[in-house]
Amino acid sequence: MFDYLIVGAGFAGSVLAERIASQLDKKVLIIDKRNHIGGNAYDHYDENGILVHKYGPHIFHTNSKKVVDYLSNFTEWQPYFHRVLAIIEGQKVPVPFNLTSIYKLFPPNFASKLEDELIANFGYGQKIPILKLRETKNKNLKWLAEYIYENVFYGYTLKQWELKPEELDISVTARVPVYISRDDRYFQDTYQIMPRYGYTKMFEKMLNHKNIKILLQTDYKEIIHHIKFDRLIFTGPIDEYFDYLYGPLPYRSLEFDFKLVNYEFYQECGTINFPNNNNYTRITEFKYLTGQKCSMSVIAFEFPKSFQPGNNQIPYYPIPKQENHILYKKYHQETKKIKSVTFCGRLADYQYYNMDQIVARALNIFEKEISL
Ligand code: FAD
Ligand code: UDP
Repeated sequence: MFDYLIVGAGFAGSVLAERIASQLDKKVLIIDKRNHIGGNAYDHYDENGILVHKYGPHIFHTNSKKVVDYLSNFTEWQPYFHRVLAIIEGQKVPVPFNLTSIYKLFPPNFASKLEDELIANFGYGQKIPILKLRETKNKNLKWLAEYIYENVFYGYTLKQWELKPEELDISVTARVPVYISRDDRYFQDTYQIMPRYGYTKMFEKMLNHKNIKILLQTDYKEIIHHIKFDRLIFTGPIDEYFDYLYGPLPYRSLEFDFKLVNYEFYQECGTINFPNNNNYTRITEFKYLTGQKCSMSVIAFEFPKSFQPGNNQIPYYPIPKQENHILYKKYHQETKKIKSVTFCGRLADYQYYNMDQIVARALNIFEKEISL
């Protein structure tokens, strides 16, 4: 007999399991259909002893002290500033596109004019989503906006989502705004840190509690009628939970191609983006992220894929766009009819959450809904 059954051992499920077990002294069974905990943040040492992120590069960044303080109960940290270069017209240029990118691509006089006009129109240090910059009336800046749109966003977004940037919520491309600054870090959050011993070690500590039992390689549907529990927390895809009552919610999937290289470093920074070449979007070299020191290195190519339920694919990304939000809202209405189930997670909330956002959401649900 368990007080809680939690479906999914990613951030959403693990944070809630930990809180319920340690703060409420209740018994939790957390299950996952995969053969490991950690959800998409799972990392492991490959056959050559190199720490890799199985489901794609995960870089921790947040402005929330609360989230960092909470996770610090389960890990030490090391600093890491992620840097990304994109191949534009054969050159490697910093992204988010910033003043350094401008000087890299254009003759100095023109670059200087663009810099002055950007600062005069928007202010130094401002971050401008590309779809906003395209609305500018300034002739030179309009030209710059179209250049960035074509060379940084259009091809990448078409590959990643099979949609043009303007067909998605503006928040998607606004994740990587044009930055009127010489700061070439991918993120500017207050905390840019990585768990010193990896994510999986952090999850192991989180779930190591006498009140928590873990069951892996089990779909919740296989056991739900065979165990006793009071409440369910569901962190998987919300449309799957409701048997696709209103039809499937659209997701994007990915395939990763991991390659071992026989030298210390393959590329000059954590990630290289390929907006216009190749059918992969980016190559990430894990050693930059993990800080591991060794003579070989592993890189991962990311190939965006379409997603169909039931095809053994992973629904990596909800697709943020108006009509999908409307469909999600129908499922959300259904959740209100069942009081004994809590929904939380990137898939259960159909939200493009970063790790810190889902930790914050899980802590909030615990404080406002569960611990009362
Ligand atoms: P998940 O991690 O997806 O966990 C859900 C779990 O539920 C899964 O383990 C799944 O197997 C399980 N499950 C689903 N259905 C069932 C079922 N029927 N029965 C049993 N178990 C089930 N965030 C960042 O902050 N920084 C990054 O750099 C970053 N990079 C990313 C890169 C990629 C390629 C992707 C896809 C995401 C990235 N994220 C990043 C986002 C991050 O992965 C998510 O915010 C986080 O994993 C969400 O946690 P979750 O618990 O909601 O979902
Ligand atoms: N993007 C782009 N070109 C780039 C980087 C990002 O077009 O060089 C767009 C693309 O639509 C992408 C979105 O911005 O999906 C968000 O990028 P981010 O790096 O945050 O994606 P994630 O790491 O979540 O896959």
